[in-house]
Amino acid sequence: MLVPDIIIAVDGYSSTGKSSFAKLLAKEFSFLYLDSGALYRGVTLFAQENGFISADNSIDVPGLEKGMESLDLHFSNVDGKNVLFCGERNVEKEIRSMKVSSQVSPIAAVAEVRVFVDRKLREAGASKRVVMDGRDIGTTVFPNAEIKLFMTASAEVRARRRFDELQAKGENPQMEEVMKNLQERDYIDSHRAVSPLVQAPDAFVLDNSDMTFAEELAWVRGVIQGKFGILE
Ligand code: C5P
Repeated sequence: MLVPDIIIAVDGYSSTGKSSFAKLLAKEFSFLYLDSGALYRGVTLFAQENGFISADNSIDVPGLEKGMESLDLHFSNVDGKNVLFCGERNVEKEIRSMKVSSQVSPIAAVAEVRVFVDRKLREAGASKRVVMDGRDIGTTVFPNAEIKLFMTASAEVRARRRFDELQAKGENPQMEEVMKNLQERDYIDSHRAVSPLVQAPDAFVLDNSDMTFAEELAWVRGVIQGKFGILE
């Protein structure tokens, strides 16, 4: 299927399979895949390692804002995968840890952090032919994205996916802790003042609790065909 030069925004709750699905679309349509959550995770790791988050979880916003002026977060291709680097350092493993997951949502609620990340995302999306996943891509980052998808799945399915993902990475997750982290992140992400997680009115909703990747792909093909009047 020949897809025109568009931006596909994939938003939704934590662990609904957004990134797996967005990667699949990027591969299928030869688009660039961008993981906006990785940048929020990268800023969180930076804040943790540089003392901008204290033991009581309070954030030194002026310090973090100053620190971000020289923070070089960027994606680089490693073995065919788009991996996050902080300067020369590959931080892909650290940013997926429970330690970062537990503090990323408060960091992502800081307006200055969102300005920093949005700038990087808009630069990357300027070339179109991009699939970007996150929480506010279709509402704030690219409100004019041609295709907006909003993903959801049952709480059990989401917790199980996150649990398996952490285990595969060599962590030793506790199901209760994983579930609690998902609920906390969804709450903070949906209730923050700046760019909260909401479904864009023109988004197509995908509940993939009981869907295979092949079914998800068939569904999105239908959405794109319908929108652009593509026949095959
Ligand atoms: O997608 P992922 O779970 O890796 O995102 C980590 C966190 O980054 C989310 O829980 C959310 O707090 C934040 N985020 C955001 N806006 C985005 C993408 C992620 O606030 N566009």
